Amino acid sequence: MSKKGLLIVLSGPSGSGKGTVLRELLKEEENIFLSVSATTRSPRPGEENGVHYFFLSREEFEAEIANDGMLEHACYCENYYGTPKKPVFDRCDNGQDVILEIEVQGAMQVLEKQKEAVSIFIMPPSLTELRERLIGRQTEDMETVERRLATALEEMKYAKQYDYIVVNDSIQEAVKDIKAILQAEKLKSGRMEEFLQTVAE
Ligand code: 5GP
Repeated sequence: MSKKGLLIVLSGPSGSGKGTVLRELLKEEENIFLSVSATTRSPRPGEENGVHYFFLSREEFEAEIANDGMLEHACYCENYYGTPKKPVFDRCDNGQDVILEIEVQGAMQVLEKQKEAVSIFIMPPSLTELRERLIGRQTEDMETVERRLATALEEMKYAKQYDYIVVNDSIQEAVKDIKAILQAEKLKSGRMEEFLQTVAE
């Protein structure tokens, strides 16, 4: 029997560089599966259905909630976002580590239900840097940028409720920090029970 994979919850405000850090981490760690979320927001240029998100109508999304198909869901900037439950549990059961890249309301739901989850909050090094990153992205108008900045400030209040905080000053350092966290989590005595039994026999 293989060990269960880690369920990793990764959050951070938009502009924290969470997406870039995650992409780099996934390049280096092949055994990590990134959960594909569902959302009711429209696809951005280059985004593909089933790859970046499952793009659903409000009705479809609400039907998934009613069918208990979502591990968590939240309303963020007037759209629904949620994690389809089955692929996450299937992968973890097969020994694969799974990352949920989700906002704070959804993360709190997962941490409440899945006590074994490992939670990591990515922080920008400063507010000035955060604002510059949001403006530099240029996929959204200024009104959206301001709204996301206000949301970011609210989200950062939740950082303390995560197991770990990684400051994304440098992408390489942030990736190194996350790899160290995952490595340590795998060596926790509670996760080594199977090994301990084989040695004690
Ligand atoms: P974006 O629209 O920029 O892709 O994502 C907006 C926010 O929604 C991000 O903070 C992202 O982490 C979050 N998000 C993406 N997928 C999910 C999900 O499945 N559940 C929750 N709760 N948040 C999500």
